[in-house]
Amino acid sequence: MTTYDRDFGDPISVDEAREALDRASSQRGPATAPLVSASVSALHAYPPARPWRLVAEELNVPESEVLLLAANENVLGPSPLAIKATHDAVKEAHLYPDGACSILRNKIASKHNVSGDRIVIGNGSNEIIELLIRTFVQPGETVVTAWPSFVVYRLVTQAHGRDTLLAPLRRDRYDLTALAALIDHRTKLVFIANPNNPTGTYVTKRELDAFLERIPPSVIVVLDEAYIEYVTADDFPNGLTDISERPRTVVLRTFSKVYGLAGLRVGYGIMDPELVDYVDRVRQPYNVNAVAQLAAAAALDDEEHVQRSRDLVKAGISQMIPALEAMGLEAVPSQANFLVIKLPFDGSFAQAALRDRAILVRSMGGYGMPNSIRVNIGTTDMNTRVLAGLQELLRQQGLRE
Ligand code: PMP
Repeated sequence: MTTYDRDFGDPISVDEAREALDRASSQRGPATAPLVSASVSALHAYPPARPWRLVAEELNVPESEVLLLAANENVLGPSPLAIKATHDAVKEAHLYPDGACSILRNKIASKHNVSGDRIVIGNGSNEIIELLIRTFVQPGETVVTAWPSFVVYRLVTQAHGRDTLLAPLRRDRYDLTALAALIDHRTKLVFIANPNNPTGTYVTKRELDAFLERIPPSVIVVLDEAYIEYVTADDFPNGLTDISERPRTVVLRTFSKVYGLAGLRVGYGIMDPELVDYVDRVRQPYNVNAVAQLAAAAALDDEEHVQRSRDLVKAGISQMIPALEAMGLEAVPSQANFLVIKLPFDGSFAQAALRDRAILVRSMGGYGMPNSIRVNIGTTDMNTRVLAGLQELLRQQGLRE
């Protein structure tokens, strides 16, 4: 069975991948042309989550009882305005979508007070990540990011046959000094997840300013702000200011988190029009479907839903942190809608044990944090179930009375 726990491993360098492929083909005898590139051959497919409806069936519990806390989604669901827009949009499903995403792009532009020619919309911000790598990282050029961080930066870079250099987190935070030390003449793209997934930690304005000052202007710095709507820290940097001051800066946002539209796949990048121009040449003509475009545009109108979602996470974090501390468990301080909880036992064991209680969380083994799980912040009742589940595990392990 595929699980979430596979170790993504060290990203293999293009040279290492080539050597491995050469070795394999010399063992096979007379050379036949390899089916795929060395880098693709060294990849593993991203493991899909077990469908939660199957979990309900296996556990024989009503679907409504399964807590979906493994993928940083919005537990409140989509905005009612977005749901209504999908009903209207689907009636025109026989037509190709607007390839320029005009309505949505204009709305995003006015929301951020930037011109529309600075925006690229994608099939999730995942697609923008992929487009940036495919468009800009040429043979011999590299990508720099941190680890543990969002795994897609590494996977796409490897699939594209380029090397990723990783700076380890320091005390669960991006270490921008270590990141800067990895940057050289080969570096083309830098990814900074701010706040970071999976830890929920952030880089401050002061840290980011110092970093941007140190690195060459030719390097494209991507500030991935998928969780920015949840941020409460005063010293969090404003990426949009960085864009206007430094043309090779990109800000990524998504409708998958606070807007509750993960299933529709819409995200966007804000960047210099010169960068947009190149990305548009690589982008597929109809990359964002019509239902998603209109739902996302409607979701932008529902400020109340966004506020409710933010309030829920703020209240949830205030509920969880002291309760976890009282249980003797450490949680990484998070600015996002999830928490990494450090456990006195294996995270994949905790994931499986909580799953038996119909609570779906994500073990962090694949991210090099074997004794941690990542849990979405939920409603008060959901959080209470998570806490009770963890309490029971501690007791069963003989670690608590
Ligand atoms: N960036 C980060 C940091 C994320 O955590 C995620 C989703 N897990 C994404 C980007 C991608 O989001 P989407 O493709 O759904 O917009």
